[in-house]
Amino acid sequence: MRTDGAVYDAREARVGAITVRRALPRRGLRTVGAWCFADHMGPEQVTETAGLDVGPHPHIGLQTVTWLVEGAVLHRDSLGSEQLIRPGELNLMTAGRGIVHAEEASRTYRGTLHGVQLWIAQPAETRDGASAFAHHADLPRIDLGHGEGTVLIGEFADVVSDAKADTALVGMDAALRAGTSTWALRRDFEYAAYVIEGAAVIAGEPVRSGQLRELGSGLDEVVVQVSDSARVLLLGGVPLGEPLHMWWNFVGRNRDEVVAAQDAWAEYLREGHSERFARVDSTLAPIPAPPLA
Ligand code: MN
Repeated sequence: MRTDGAVYDAREARVGAITVRRALPRRGLRTVGAWCFADHMGPEQVTETAGLDVGPHPHIGLQTVTWLVEGAVLHRDSLGSEQLIRPGELNLMTAGRGIVHAEEASRTYRGTLHGVQLWIAQPAETRDGASAFAHHADLPRIDLGHGEGTVLIGEFADVVSDAKADTALVGMDAALRAGTSTWALRRDFEYAAYVIEGAAVIAGEPVRSGQLRELGSGLDEVVVQVSDSARVLLLGGVPLGEPLHMWWNFVGRNRDEVVAAQDAWAEYLREGHSERFARVDSTLAPIPAPPLA
């Protein structure tokens, strides 16, 4: 059994015009199962001129999981999808070999924006495959005694989400009141828990909003104690077992793959589309990739 006592502070970064707290990847913890990226967006005020306005940009080799606590974001992608996401709903976008999307907040909503965007690395079997988009407005909920969990994707305590995952994993958002619960875990999963709001004691360690509690693998259960209220995101999965090469919005396996995606995106910026990255209609301008190191 491996249980690490580590509690990490997410680090601040800018996305569009809002501040995010990035919990993954980090030094010493690149992935949790296939989860390879975790941004906590806000809470921040979205106005007509400032918000999560992320213009068209490409992805390869990953799924994006968008989940809001408060606010609204309009998703558009190169498959023609146009979907407003609201709290309690899941947007799941699968990049496969390549997709382009835009995320617009300021023109569609005014008020507080608060949520997470997570990436799941796709395994060898699907990462060069077709792209897809799914919106899940009705996700399975589970009674945790002092609150309720929503299984976004994967499985938790035999409750399974309809959202399509390529590897065995879980993403579960728990809205908790004061109390203690014991959550059944899978021994073959590795886990981490991120506190979105409030504070909790997770596996004996105090964890507050903006912090990630690494739990490790080989666990049968985890005890979660809350003295006031907390919103806890549980991430877990079977270790990916594939070395990732992540750069900008691309999840590949080596630098050559990233260079190929970069070249295809440069063509999109010149031509408005490319063979790999189809056009997406957005009111926002496409985002140039940073120069490759
Ligand atoms: Mn994106």
